[in-house]
Amino acid sequence: MPSPGTAVQTDALRLSRVTKVYAGGVTALDDVSLSVAPGTFLAVMGPSGSGKSTLMHCAAGLDVPSRGSVKVGDVELAGLSETRRTELRHERIGFVFQAYNLVPSLSIADNITLPLRLAGRRPDRAWLETLVARVGLSGHLDRRPGELSGGQQQRAAIARALVTRPAVVFADEPTGALDLRTAHAVLDLLRDLVDGLGQTVVMVTHDPAVAARAHLALVMADGRIVDTLASPTAARLAQRITTLGAE
Ligand code: ADP
Ligand code: MG
Repeated sequence: MPSPGTAVQTDALRLSRVTKVYAGGVTALDDVSLSVAPGTFLAVMGPSGSGKSTLMHCAAGLDVPSRGSVKVGDVELAGLSETRRTELRHERIGFVFQAYNLVPSLSIADNITLPLRLAGRRPDRAWLETLVARVGLSGHLDRRPGELSGGQQQRAAIARALVTRPAVVFADEPTGALDLRTAHAVLDLLRDLVDGLGQTVVMVTHDPAVAARAHLALVMADGRIVDTLASPTAARLAQRITTLGAE
């Protein structure tokens, strides 16, 4: 029990001893524990097949671990019904995909507010304006996704991911489809949302230069976290990744 006056900060995300064995017998996550403090920008790296996507899916309530506990904020996911887990995802979790996944027939404004409608919530006008200004799309709200550049579409997808004020935003290769300069602008934006708004972001990337923009980088291999680097540099990450096979 904490002593009176001691503030206990709830982790934005906490995995305790999470194992995921797929039907067929592949152990994709092997006893993974991880705590992410609010306002952290976390990068997840590792070779193909090391369990990055499985980690994201289990952490985000898209899939269910075989064993272990996943907490998003103060909500334990283990044991929730599928309906409740889906609700929780709409309320507490944001996603950014490599392919943006905007709805082509909807305006940018309607795309951004879609998660609120799914969660049965009304837009908070002030927050919406802050967000749209922050992602630099104030003049584009009436357009369709097809009328925007890739970078603008990804910025719309980021605003959509943040609109419900989620505990955690998960981003799977968010800059994978962008050219270098646009990718940097999107990373600057993510970093700004973390540093400026206290958003927690968990991002998978193959690119050490992208991961270097995070506060913290995890390196995965064979379903385990094999390294954690604080304030990672691209050079250190590249070196760590290339030495993985040699162990
Ligand atoms: P990464 O994202 O790092 O490439 P994944 O999490 O996708 O890794 O995969 C980890 C391991 O789990 C791999 O061996 C992969 O083949 C296996 N795997 C992933 N998804 C499934 C699935 N739905 N069914 C069976 N095996 C899977
Ligand atoms: Mg993957």
